[in-house]
Amino acid sequence: MSLTICPLASGSSGNAIYIGDDKNRILIDCGLSGKRIEELLQSRDLACPDLDGIILTHEHTDHIKGAGVMARRWGLPVYTRPGTWSAGGEILENIPSGQQKLLLSGLSFGRLEIDYFPLSHDAREPVGLLVRRGSRQGALITDLGESNPGLEEKIYGSDALIIEANHDPDMLATGPYPQFLQERIRSPRGHLSNDDCGFLLSRVLNSQQVQVYLAHLSQDNNDPSIARITVENILREQGVDAGVDLQVAERNCASRPSVLL
Ligand SMILES: [Zn+2]
Ligand SMILES: [Zn+2]
Repeated sequence: MSLTICPLASGSSGNAIYIGDDKNRILIDCGLSGKRIEELLQSRDLACPDLDGIILTHEHTDHIKGAGVMARRWGLPVYTRPGTWSAGGEILENIPSGQQKLLLSGLSFGRLEIDYFPLSHDAREPVGLLVRRGSRQGALITDLGESNPGLEEKIYGSDALIIEANHDPDMLATGPYPQFLQERIRSPRGHLSNDDCGFLLSRVLNSQQVQVYLAHLSQDNNDPSIARITVENILREQGVDAGVDLQVAERNCASRPSVLL
């Protein structure tokens, strides 16, 4: 059976990703209202009672907003790092203690295996995630300021990648954000630019067929077509564009799913 990966929403207005196979189903991040997440799942014929759990990458509101409601309403366990639990404030504190699970090692849900690795971002203990099923692997790295060799080793050769292409550097420099905020976004603990995303991708692609989602685009400092063209140009220049199925993750609705056979 196949591993399905589907971004349900992406960007600073809220992030959620569905992963699953025929038996097990997980939500990664829960950054919209519980009601909206249910609607997004339903738009893909997915039902909340079928979920096995929620994994949170870090405590920023655009990743946890609906986690409490979803956990309580559907009795779901929520997994995240100790630092994220302590930094998550009311939203995470209000999850029943029996459903608060520490992400301390890899997780298994049936044949789905999930591993995590640290990311450089201005949160307490942010993580990227790897999802494996048999020989297939998906990687999720949104909300990171810079890459590192350990991270690239982990995600090398993935069959599907959800990767941040947050901003166009020129749009950020000339856009509406005050200087301090621009510097935070550009910092090694901020967000990845379109160019950084393209070069990172060019170092980790090694699959005949790879599905790539450009994710977490800034609404003010980026544009889907600019992100796509920038990344496509870099991949072409680096000679690694063959076999890449690239799409920009939708901001407010579910993207086309990747089905890895
Ligand atoms: Zn975010
Ligand atoms: Zn963040």
